Amino acid sequence: MCIEERTGRSLAYGEIFYHANRRRQTVAFTPQLRQMTEQAIVLAQLASQTTMPAPIDNTKKCLSCSLKEICLPFEVKQLRSSMTLETED
Ligand code: SF4
Repeated sequence: MCIEERTGRSLAYGEIFYHANRRRQTVAFTPQLRQMTEQAIVLAQLASQTTMPAPIDNTKKCLSCSLKEICLPFEVKQLRSSMTLETED
């Protein structure tokens, strides 16, 4: 995808070369693989941040989220609103 962006040309496939057994594997660049790649890039960008992104505003979704014990969306929301109130005084 980087090569496509740099050259402006579309590529249908790529190849992975395994040095240990000196074999080459062809990989088709399907729409699904492209989408998975873009999702992995977004996750890598999030993981590289030193601070967690702010919880989403729609905390109804958080009720059924498996990460709510780590993300603490309700606590963060409460802290933010109290900090806003303090700065307004
Ligand atoms: S608890 Fe889940 S849905 Fe809510 S902000 Fe955190 S990660 Fe997103």
